[in-house]
Amino acid sequence: MNLHEYQGKEILSSFGVRVQRGIVAPNANEAVLAAKQLTAETGTKWYVIKAQIHAGGRGKGGGVKLAKNLGEVEEIAGKIIGMHLVTPQTSKEGKKVHQVLVAEDVYYPGPSETSEFYMSVLLNRAIGRNMIMYSTEGGMDIEAVAEHTPHLIFTEEIDPSVGLMPFQARRIAFNLGLEGNAFKEMTKFVTALYTAYVESDASLFEINPVLKTSDDKIMAVDAKVTIDDNALYRHRNYEDLRDLREENPIEIEAKAVGLNYVDLDGNVGCMVNGAGLAMATMDLIKQAGGEPANFLDVGGTADAARVEAAFKIILKDPNVKAILINIFGGIVRCDRVAQGVIDAYKNMGTINVPIIVRLQGTNADIAKKLIDDSGLNVLSATEFQEAADKVQQVLS
Ligand code: GDP
Ligand code: MN
Repeated sequence: MNLHEYQGKEILSSFGVRVQRGIVAPNANEAVLAAKQLTAETGTKWYVIKAQIHAGGRGKGGGVKLAKNLGEVEEIAGKIIGMHLVTPQTSKEGKKVHQVLVAEDVYYPGPSETSEFYMSVLLNRAIGRNMIMYSTEGGMDIEAVAEHTPHLIFTEEIDPSVGLMPFQARRIAFNLGLEGNAFKEMTKFVTALYTAYVESDASLFEINPVLKTSDDKIMAVDAKVTIDDNALYRHRNYEDLRDLREENPIEIEAKAVGLNYVDLDGNVGCMVNGAGLAMATMDLIKQAGGEPANFLDVGGTADAARVEAAFKIILKDPNVKAILINIFGGIVRCDRVAQGVIDAYKNMGTINVPIIVRLQGTNADIAKKLIDDSGLNVLSATEFQEAADKVQQVLS
């Protein structure tokens, strides 16, 4: 589950990570009230108005703006809320902004220069450990830093049995070129950040930038936080943080009927049982010259009702030009699935895209006969390659 910046910052703050303070507002009037409250609490003179959408690069798209008085807060918030913000990480249509974070200005002048760092906490699957990735090159596109100046990106791997050790926190502060109070602040910052990551069952924290203020405080100015869905049952209070407006509507619907569905950009819809077979099927489609339109695992019980639900979900995607059903009948018999496909097809009336069904396993022969005799616009196959060839045939 992805969170908005303001939600991520609330979680960080609850674990003692210093963050740029802010108050979320759904309209320009409330943005002004939020700004007044911020000044009362922090003494800030200026404000940053930040669009809250699930995508980064908002600054580049015009979704992060400095306001120097309450009039500007009202004007900027009014402009940003309701706009379709296009950033390097959104589609061409952009994402509609429903709310802004009114934040204190933390780039104020002072005894030293401000500096921006990059920091993320994530799981390194190759070594089975969490790691902290960080760089002196904050506030920019980290992919570009990785490409052009990879020596400026550091990593710290964490042994799960002992957690982040104090010497590691110090090494991070050292590599970032800090000294004095800023050095101490950074060790506190990373220690709290790592605790927050573990305790919240996050799968990603990306803080870009981490700011050293002109008076040597270290704080999170941005926060991209992803919580592991499989751990949400341990954090019932996070469930409210889900913003369905930010999620794919077809995926939400699929989830509601218990299907494992991920929307993709291609033209061949797939209906498969088992995640491994679903992955193999996507490869198969690519090899046949198509592009998968989705990942869909119908799970163990591929009965008529489930097959119909899956059909409906796949057909919601207007890019789908063919559907490949690839089901292995182990526990569920192939003839049952075939009957399910036929019943679902008939129930749905007209389906305007060709369907290729590959059923393999128990009673595959009976299943093939059922499909072939059904008189419907459905092609059957028993072998993987045969199915691939038929997909190619209907696409060309
Ligand atoms: P992103 O563009 O979606 O990554 O959004 P960020 O939260 O990272 O903000 C983008 C940029 O806005 C930052 O890199 C900063 O340069 C700038 N910014 C953020 N907060 C402040 C602030 O308090 N004052 C000023 N002057 N600039 C800020
Ligand atoms: Mn950022």
